[in-house]
Amino acid sequence: MIELRKKTTFAFAIIIIAVFSLSSCFDDLSPNETVVQKTIIIPETTRPVTTVTEQTTVTELEPETTEPETTEPETEATEPEPEPEPLPIIDNEWALWLISANHPLPLDYVPQLVEISGSKHKIDIRVKGYADLLFEAAQRDGINLRVISGYRSVEDQEMYFLSVYRYMKSKGYSDETAFYKTIAEIAVPYTSEHNAGLAIDFNLIEEHFDQTPEFRWLAGNAWKYGFIMRYPADKTNTTGIIYEPWHFRFVGLYHAEQIYNSGLCLEEYIDALNISIGNSDYQIVEEYKNYVLSL
Ligand SMILES: [Zn+2]
Repeated sequence: MIELRKKTTFAFAIIIIAVFSLSSCFDDLSPNETVVQKTIIIPETTRPVTTVTEQTTVTELEPETTEPETTEPETEATEPEPEPEPLPIIDNEWALWLISANHPLPLDYVPQLVEISGSKHKIDIRVKGYADLLFEAAQRDGINLRVISGYRSVEDQEMYFLSVYRYMKSKGYSDETAFYKTIAEIAVPYTSEHNAGLAIDFNLIEEHFDQTPEFRWLAGNAWKYGFIMRYPADKTNTTGIIYEPWHFRFVGLYHAEQIYNSGLCLEEYIDALNISIGNSDYQIVEEYKNYVLSL
């Protein structure tokens, strides 16, 4: 009897030791999450595209607060993640280019363009593979995305700009006010992401596009393919552009993931990286204003 009790006690001790060993193993393995959260901002502009593994980890951490609706994402979490292939990309600094009123494209910039699959609109050739994956994934989820605008030439930009400017004038604004009202809605030539072929306007150029399933899908999934919503409603003071739920900008898989998770807009993200990226020219808008007002 005593022998049996000794054996039982011994066996019990072994189990306790085993349980402690195992739990300490799990402690070592555990929070991938913490690591990812701490790496929200990493100044690595030359970092290659993220792997599928990294994306899967972060997917589990999607902050609910950045979702416009909470209805759909829940169901998506249970579906198998679409897996963007690691497309060849030399570096992704070009994808992070800040193109805005104060950061025009170089006047001699010539993007290499290709048609977006199933569309007449073009996009930077380096973005096409990611755009294709995004459209395929949307289709798999029963979402019908259409391209309203992709690459836009500087000439088209000018035409578009002047027509909006004239519309503003027709509403009774003075020349100068009409100009500033216009630049809040359409960038002056050379300062639009469309001029670089790095942005896509989807489906509907209306604010209430954000009430559609297409927008909800894009808001929750576009980052997985390297695209961000570029002009959010709460960042208009920083971007200088009105809320544009239809406009998505390619920034590369890595940066899209960081921007999506951090809730920053591109300007804030680049500031946080503490890098200088893009071409700084604070005169172009003023010069263009003088030109437009002289017409
Ligand atoms: Zn756009």
